[in-house]
Amino acid sequence: MSVTFKSLSELLEKIETTKKRLEIIEQTANYLKTLSAQEIEPSTNMMVGRAFPKYSQKTLDVSWSTLTRIFERISVFDWDFFRQAMAATGDIGSATKAVLEQTKAKKQTQLTQKPLTITEVRITLDAIAQAQGSGSRTKKERLITTLMSQAEPVEAKYLVKIFTGEMRTGLHEGLMEQAVARAFNVPLGRVQHAAMVLGDIGEVAELLKTQGSEGFEKAGFTVFRPVKLMLAQTARSVQEALTEHGGKSAFEYKYDGARVQIHKQDGRVEVFSRRLSEVTGSLPEIVDAIKQNIPAQSIIVEGEVISLDSAGYPIAFQHLMRRFRRVRDISGMEKKIPLTLYLFDILYLNGESLISQPYLQRRQILAQNVGKIPLTNQIITDQQTQAEGFLKEAITAGHEGLMAKKPDSPYTPGRRGKRWLKIKVILDTLDLVITAAEYGYGRRKGWLSDYYLAARDPESGGFLELGKTFKGLTDAEIIEITKRLKESSIEQDGHRVIVIPKIVVEVAYNEIQQSPRYKSQMALRFARITRIRDDKTPEEADTIERVREIYERQFRNKGKYNSG
Ligand code: AMP
Repeated sequence: MSVTFKSLSELLEKIETTKKRLEIIEQTANYLKTLSAQEIEPSTNMMVGRAFPKYSQKTLDVSWSTLTRIFERISVFDWDFFRQAMAATGDIGSATKAVLEQTKAKKQTQLTQKPLTITEVRITLDAIAQAQGSGSRTKKERLITTLMSQAEPVEAKYLVKIFTGEMRTGLHEGLMEQAVARAFNVPLGRVQHAAMVLGDIGEVAELLKTQGSEGFEKAGFTVFRPVKLMLAQTARSVQEALTEHGGKSAFEYKYDGARVQIHKQDGRVEVFSRRLSEVTGSLPEIVDAIKQNIPAQSIIVEGEVISLDSAGYPIAFQHLMRRFRRVRDISGMEKKIPLTLYLFDILYLNGESLISQPYLQRRQILAQNVGKIPLTNQIITDQQTQAEGFLKEAITAGHEGLMAKKPDSPYTPGRRGKRWLKIKVILDTLDLVITAAEYGYGRRKGWLSDYYLAARDPESGGFLELGKTFKGLTDAEIIEITKRLKESSIEQDGHRVIVIPKIVVEVAYNEIQQSPRYKSQMALRFARITRIRDDKTPEEADTIERVREIYERQFRNKGKYNSG
């Protein structure tokens, strides 16, 4: 018997109201046990809000405005009611369900249709992702219309969440890993490791279902499936980094560029961006450099791509990003924005994972396998003054600062730890998400030019606003952002448009203040956008805890004004 999409939606309804982690894990584990080999990967992914496995390059590419057009076509979509439901729940999926339920009640429809199954939903999602090129809009809309007209309100709620990537039930990736471990009675650490090397928890569940724990133990990296990146925390000074690393660090230039993970097997090369999307087509000279310099049969390496001007100084990040977005007329861009690659790490070589080896050993293996491709400029030292000199040198050369890496540390995919510390000398910045925007006045009329900025709240999976700014972006950027924000607009309230939080921006500010104005109780003073971080997803935005920490830290060097 095929498992219905309704059963999955109803499980998520239960989970959404459960606050207890253990209950969520147990209910999910029990559900996973009822699924067939074919259903388990799609269900696991859909439950955490993904249409496809995490490593997959497929995208649905369906905006909220397209979805609403479809709802208006297939039902009487009462916008006033939607706005009220949105205000009450703060969740597009729940608001959609409320509207559809109301419509259904009015129409008193009898549902005689066959129920949607998980397999059918996945097949339709696949077809939607595959619709590309001319006529794809119409084709996508036709597929979504058929899917949504078959869906009951509760199913529509979760389909909307999958389409918009806003699942927010509390069943996050970490709990799903625990549920998989429990369902198949295997240790959590092994599940986490397998999810890391396979690049997807759904695939781990499928492997356990089809091959039991034996096949699962053998799971290893697969070339051309991107591995989650190891990330860095911030240090205030080289001294702090040295202390953290037990007295000695490998200091490297922190290039202000774009991170790439490069996979090669035989004659084929693929390049992945920081968000793990494939960007091979935009970077032909990088692909050529790898082919010419790396003889290894199979290899996964990482590095930073920057572009230097004719005087040898790095160009601004926003211009570099144009190369990453560009898919047509690459040759013109190759001349205008030539790229330089600096490699810094190796994860895999000829069938073997290297991630548990100490960093300095990996660096040596890297150096031996990459021909003339330069490695990141590095010194290994226990001397504060030497490291400070190196920092100055990096800044003078136009780079962002230094990275300090613990010499004996393994590569830990997906972790933001203290083994890698970034030391920047510029102002404090936060990576925040735009949650709403307002139309400007005068010259900026018709443009969404005033942005509400929010930090991530891991507890609720939502975002908490911290301020608003109209400063920092160029006219061209404002025009582009306006277009993108309109695509993901949820509702308009006078001048203000509320959007699905998607765009990450780096924000500089002078101070964090206490403020009753926002739910976060904090506000940024003199916020200005320093760049659009299209290389970051909203899940990578700074958290409200980090903002709170910085807020508290401000008072260490300053008197704290006590208003109470
Ligand atoms: P951030 O994006 O501010 O969290 O800083 C970490 C990023 O710095 C990495 O993801 C890389 O893209 C970049 N980076 C620049 N130089 C290096 C380096 N030598 N080692 C590692 N990462 C580097």
